[in-house]
Amino acid sequence: MIKDIIEALSELLPHQILHGQQVGTKYAVDWSGESALTPDIVVRPTNVAHVSALLQYCNQHQLPIVIQGGMTGLSGGSTPQHSEIVLSLERLTGISELDTESMTLTALAGTPLEHLQLAASEAGLYLPLDLGARGSCTVGGNVATNAGGNQVLSYGMTRSLVLGLEAVTADGTIIRSMNKMLKNNAGYDLKQLFIGSEGTLGVVTEVVFRLFPKPLNKQSALCGFSTFSQAVFFLQRMQSTCSRVSAFEIMWDNYLKQVLVMNQQFSRPLAEDHAFYVLIEIEGNESERDVESFNLQLQACLDDGILNDAIVAQSDRDVGQFWQLRDGVVDILASVTHRANFDIGVPISQMPAFVEAVEASLSAQFDHLELCIFGHMADGNLHIIAWTGREGDVELIYQKVYTLVGNMGGTITAEHGIGTMKRQYLSLCRSEQEIALMRLIKQTMDPNNILNPGRVI
Ligand SMILES: Cc1cc2nc3c(=O)[nH]c(=O)nc-3n(C[C@H](O)[C@H](O)[C@H](O)COP(=O)(O)OP(=O)(O)OC[C@H]3O[C@@H](n4cnc5c(N)ncnc54)[C@H](O)[C@@H]3O)c2cc1C
Repeated sequence: MIKDIIEALSELLPHQILHGQQVGTKYAVDWSGESALTPDIVVRPTNVAHVSALLQYCNQHQLPIVIQGGMTGLSGGSTPQHSEIVLSLERLTGISELDTESMTLTALAGTPLEHLQLAASEAGLYLPLDLGARGSCTVGGNVATNAGGNQVLSYGMTRSLVLGLEAVTADGTIIRSMNKMLKNNAGYDLKQLFIGSEGTLGVVTEVVFRLFPKPLNKQSALCGFSTFSQAVFFLQRMQSTCSRVSAFEIMWDNYLKQVLVMNQQFSRPLAEDHAFYVLIEIEGNESERDVESFNLQLQACLDDGILNDAIVAQSDRDVGQFWQLRDGVVDILASVTHRANFDIGVPISQMPAFVEAVEASLSAQFDHLELCIFGHMADGNLHIIAWTGREGDVELIYQKVYTLVGNMGGTITAEHGIGTMKRQYLSLCRSEQEIALMRLIKQTMDPNNILNPGRVI
């Protein structure tokens, strides 16, 4: 059977098929590290017509496909299962157009995000989508997962940065919807079907992003707090008094300690220990005034007891060092096995009670529990990594935390998506009617269930 498929696909799409020994382990698992499986067949198209031909064939023969971008996803969505054929977008790359007047950037789906950021910057413009995986994640993956990242607070998630896209549906139909305008109310906004649906409704092949004027000036500081409420006051104060607050990343002390243990070359950023740390960034276009008002506001917050301590970046190197601490999660993920990794969302007002409930519930059940908490606080999004060192505890930790999330009206995923790993918990944060409508859309667009089966719903 596999032999026949390889023969047919090699004829249909010459030089685009890898099989057997040619298939490397890089196609076996995404960054979640869960349930690796090296696939039998990998197809690597170089244009949309080839993607369409592959989907037509697979649909006719009811062959399941898993779509792969940069494999930096954290929900198991691009990890092959059973006999799935891998559709890798790794060769569908390149920037198709940079329109400086319309302020749009169009790129093929397999292009790494960082290439777009650099191209925009070289043209004096700005693509505000940014995440730790920028060098490896692809724009197709970003769109499919509706990626969030570090600047959602001012620019929104990927959804709000995408003006148009091209996608191929399960039967091979190419839907070209390459809108470049901010306004377009002609009928249904079809691109939204493909944004955030994690490859279950179509393969994204090209994307039009909205660009922004490049901010002339960025100010960054790392701040220490004793209480969560102080951090909330601080956010509100800075939003109401400074120019645009573009990032507001919170780190619990337990997170920072773990990052420092894993990276002996990093040093403690502030003289004393604090219960919470915030990395704040402000963007503006009036250099001197922005610097002055940022420093004045930080001083006012110190004087008013909102802030315990702060260090302001004096150079790009300092900024880089602040972000190294925030991005230190990579080392935790890479070195801790048997961990539960959460990207939950709860309203900011519920965060302290939620974290307290998580700590109480998990420590009552597990000894040797380690917890690291950090995240995009201003977006209502917290990342929690929890482990005991025992594989058997991981699923129980997921169950306990997701149940608490559901009880508090939160979401089990604020940005990484459902993939395969959170599917069984979807009903904790989506109603029966919502899930039924999701199923109906899936059945209508992919009646043979060939696209990323078993993901999301
Ligand atoms: C260090 C690190 C930091 C991260 N930080 C963030 C963060 O701040 N915010 C955030 O949101 N995420 C973050 N992530 C998660 C991840 O980077 C994002 O989900 C990213 O958008 C995935 O892109 P990818 O190309 O790697 O997709 P993949 O991992 O290859 O795929 C992800 C999902 O999208 C589907 N898919 C991929 N390409 C396409 C396509 N062209 N058409 C249709 N479906 C497709 C896959 O089937 C899969 O279901 C981080 C990951 C790492 C490792």
